[in-house]
Amino acid sequence: MDLKQYFRDIQDFPKEGILFKDITPLLLSPEAREEMLETLVTTLKDKKIDKVVGVESRGFFFGILLAQKLNAGFIPVRKPKKLPYETISASYELEYGQDTLEMHIDAIQKGDKVLIHDDVLATGGTIKAVCELVEKLGGEIVQCNFLMELSFLTGREKIKGKEIFAAITY
Ligand code: IMP
Repeated sequence: MDLKQYFRDIQDFPKEGILFKDITPLLLSPEAREEMLETLVTTLKDKKIDKVVGVESRGFFFGILLAQKLNAGFIPVRKPKKLPYETISASYELEYGQDTLEMHIDAIQKGDKVLIHDDVLATGGTIKAVCELVEKLGGEIVQCNFLMELSFLTGREKIKGKEIFAAITY
């Protein structure tokens, strides 16, 4: 199955000049979802993942599926003021301004083997901030995985040294 056909290009979303990769066709198909899940899980055999971290909000879809398949805990990383308990936070630069992500302080125990999942790796700012959160709490990052990597934006440079896997690369 060619998984690329389950991603749709949307021109000028969310603003002019941006070509947005829409993952909702993938979500619509049980067969494509299953194939995507298997593709991601195959790279994690014998890695004994304790926790899967999913990044708000499109990282939640496959994040929770991965956690279930790997028999691991699931941790949501969210935008500010969404999580109800005590949090730690990490900020990162956007084209204009800054953004912040938060995680519950008791989500990770020191030494936990952690998989971080998000839908798309673009410039890498988001994933770098999430790596900081995990490492602040003493988690060991086993892999950062993505449905798709936009390699021309060189996001992986921001998390040099980390194991990275993307099911699809553009
Ligand atoms: P980065 O921080 O530039 O790597 O952007 C990654 C974040 O932006 C991820 O959380 C993605 O969900 C989102 N993102 C960036 N570009 C796209 C896209 O083309 N499709 C879907 N999500 C995207």
